Amino acid sequence: MSELPGLAAARIWAAARFPYLASGIFGAQVTAVPGLDSVAIDERWQLSADPELVAGWSAAQFGSVLVHHVCHILRHHSERALATAVTKDDSRQWLSAADAEINDDLIPAGLELPGNPVLPRHFGADDGRLAEEYFALLKRREAGPEDEGPAAWLDCGSGADGLPRASDRPGGLDPWLADLLRRQVAEEVVRYAKQAGTVPAGLLRWARDVLAPRVDWRRLLAAELRRAIADVAGAADYSYRRPSRRAAAVSGVVLPALRRPVPELAVVCDTSGSMSEELLAMALAEVEGLLRALGMARQLRVLACDAAAGPAQRVSSTRQVTLTGGGGTNMGAGLAAAYALRPRPAVAVVLTDGYTPWPDAAPKGMRVVAGLLGDDAPEAPRWARAVRVPFPG
Ligand SMILES: [Zn+2]
Repeated sequence: MSELPGLAAARIWAAARFPYLASGIFGAQVTAVPGLDSVAIDERWQLSADPELVAGWSAAQFGSVLVHHVCHILRHHSERALATAVTKDDSRQWLSAADAEINDDLIPAGLELPGNPVLPRHFGADDGRLAEEYFALLKRREAGPEDEGPAAWLDCGSGADGLPRASDRPGGLDPWLADLLRRQVAEEVVRYAKQAGTVPAGLLRWARDVLAPRVDWRRLLAAELRRAIADVAGAADYSYRRPSRRAAAVSGVVLPALRRPVPELAVVCDTSGSMSEELLAMALAEVEGLLRALGMARQLRVLACDAAAGPAQRVSSTRQVTLTGGGGTNMGAGLAAAYALRPRPAVAVVLTDGYTPWPDAAPKGMRVVAGLLGDDAPEAPRWARAVRVPFPG
C-alpha cells in the first residue's frame, strides 16, 4: 500500500462542502492502487485510487470524486444495475445513467469533478430522473460520434454497476454495515435539511426514500394483517371442542371436528408523549376498516400503552377507544398485556412511533405487526412485520 497524496485535504474539502455526507466521505476506505488509471468504488465502501492520477487533481476535484463515488453506494447503483440486467455490453450506458442521476443536483451544489462529468442534458434528458430511466433512454438512442462515453477515470467501479472488476479486493464493510452507514448518511441528510434547508433536492428525496420507502402503507398493512390472520386461520386443526356430525353414529366416542379458528386480535396503541394523535387515529381507523372488511371487527381489542398498559377495551368502533397515558414508553409492556388476554390474541398490531424498547423475541404463538408512525420512526425488531405509516402529504 503506497501513500495517497491529497486524500486528507480532499476529504476536508468534501466534508466542508457537503457536511451532510461527512459520514460517508470518512466511512469509505481509500487505498492507493498504482497503475489503476482510475478511481473506483466497490459495494463494500472500498475506494481504489491511482495515486498518479489523483496527484494531478486539486483538493476540490479529488474531494468531488470521493463524494460522487460515495453517492454510487448510497444510491444502491450496483444492486439496481443487477435488477436492470445490465451486462458488460451495456455497462457504459448504465454508468453514464448512474452518473447523471448523481451529478444533476450535486454539480449545481458545488461538485467540481475533473473532466466532463455526465449530465442528463448531454443526452437530451431532464434532471431529477432515475438512472433506470436514463439507461432506457441511452439504450434507445443510436450511438453517435459524440457518445464517446466518460473519460477512463470515470469507470466508477463495481459499486456503480455490480460487475466485478479485476481490481476488486476482499475486505470492506459487511453488507449489513454498509447498509447501516447508508442509513446513517440518510438520517444526517434529513436532519441537515430540517436545520439548514440547503440539501440538493434529489439527495433529500433519496434520503427520505431510504428512511421511509414511499409505498402505500395501507396496502402493506392490509397484506401483513391478512398474512398474519391467514397463518393462524390456515392452521386448521383438529379440535375436540365441537363434536363432528359423525359423533352421533359412534356412541360414546367424541370425534374431533375440523374447525377453522377465527383468530383473536389485539391492537396496542402507543400513547406516550411523543406520539402524534392525528397519525395514531389515522392508523387505528385503518386497522379497524381492514378488520371490518375481513369480517373480524368483533374480534378487536384495543390497549393503550405508554410505560405500562391500560385495560383492554373490546370495541365495535375505534372511535370508542380512550387513549390514556403520556409518560414513558414500553411497547413490551403492551405486548405482554395483549398476551395475557383471554382468549389470547393470535395477532397483535402495535401502533407506535418506534421510540420504545422491545422484547428480545416475539411473544410465543402471537404474530406481531408493527405500524411505525411518523417519518423518523426507528426500525422495529426483526421478529415483527413492520409497516411504515408516514405523515400524510
Ligand atoms: Zn460515477
